[in-house]
Amino acid sequence: MGALRTVGLVILGISAFTFIALFGRLPAFRKTPVAFLHRLLWVYLPNGIAVVDNRLFGGRVVRCWTRSGSYVLKENHPLVLIFFVSLLVIGEGIFVPAAWPRLSSSHKLWVPGAVVLPYVLLYKCVMTKSFITPENHEEEMKRYPYDRVLFHPGHRCTTCDFLKPARSKHCSFCQACVSRHDHHCVWLMNCVGANNCVYFISLLLSLSAMLVYGSYLGYSLLSGTLEELVPPDMKAAMQGWTMYFNIWGIVIAADPRIGTIFLLMLMTAPLAGAFLAYHVYLIWAGTTTNETSKWSYWKDDVEDGFVFKTKRSLIFENPLPMTPYDQAWPVHTDQILIIDNDPPTEGCLLASDSNRIARRPGREVPPDPRWKRLDSMRDVDNIYDLGFWDNLRDVMGLSVRRPKNVHR
Ligand SMILES: [Zn+2]
Ligand SMILES: [Zn+2]
Repeated sequence: MGALRTVGLVILGISAFTFIALFGRLPAFRKTPVAFLHRLLWVYLPNGIAVVDNRLFGGRVVRCWTRSGSYVLKENHPLVLIFFVSLLVIGEGIFVPAAWPRLSSSHKLWVPGAVVLPYVLLYKCVMTKSFITPENHEEEMKRYPYDRVLFHPGHRCTTCDFLKPARSKHCSFCQACVSRHDHHCVWLMNCVGANNCVYFISLLLSLSAMLVYGSYLGYSLLSGTLEELVPPDMKAAMQGWTMYFNIWGIVIAADPRIGTIFLLMLMTAPLAGAFLAYHVYLIWAGTTTNETSKWSYWKDDVEDGFVFKTKRSLIFENPLPMTPYDQAWPVHTDQILIIDNDPPTEGCLLASDSNRIARRPGREVPPDPRWKRLDSMRDVDNIYDLGFWDNLRDVMGLSVRRPKNVHR
């Protein structure tokens, strides 16, 4: 029982630590204990260590750590990928040979598929790049129009030295601009972007399915061991929780290869399921991990009352300065959003490449009635949201070019 609880707690601890370290900064966790623990891990703890190191060793430990730490944190290294593949190979190497002779013939058909599929998808995720190069730049500029809220025309990537296509982002790990950037994934040593997003979601799906299926197989096999091992009168005593865990502890100790990997799968399945659910949510919302953080800044400004909205057609005589690429996209919007402390006044000029007011007229000019203060993100048009099924088609690289105008 003691050993079982220790193994369980260690696996649970590693899962929680990984989750907080990687995802604690997501806007969804703002003002929650997860965000605090993330800051504790990445900010307070390193700062505390630096202070102690300065006092005791004149900063030598931190200098040495920074050299190796900057490799771990800032370079595109394979350590996490190696850890991930090792976990898969070792886990399956322990579980499958022990389980195989005890499986029914129908499971013997399914298990090889469940084992092989994650490796195939992992390979596709790692090898498929979504980098924007001088060769494909013109094509990438046509992929998405600028929404003029999150992405504006005319911005250059100073490293790659070309105009940034809408929805792209420069990744300092990959040292390239990435098309429809979602996030840089240390597990894959690669960015998740336009070309491998479908493989990434399939990988999460296959891992979740493998872990749930593996947990189910583990549970069935351990139940068999329990039947053989535990006499009926002892089973009758399993009603109490302590007795229940004690008996399962004995079963896992008697069947350790199935038992430990069953626990590992049972505890990591929710983690894989949570990542999968988050990425399905992103498809539903028509956004990416990168854009979610941009939208969260807009949400903060809307809540603080600093966002004003109007229709482009009310401000400009030419309704939309559209490029042919804008016209090819199925959703258009007439909105202009700006961020400012005060409502726009009559005669003020908008900056063309951002959501700011470039120049205000003199004092005591009345507010321009064409602008309304926004009080909800529901009134903001996201032109990249085509509805769940078309968003899914877009992620899968299928055509979504059906006209459906959004005008509020
Ligand atoms: Zn770049
Ligand atoms: Zn990257």
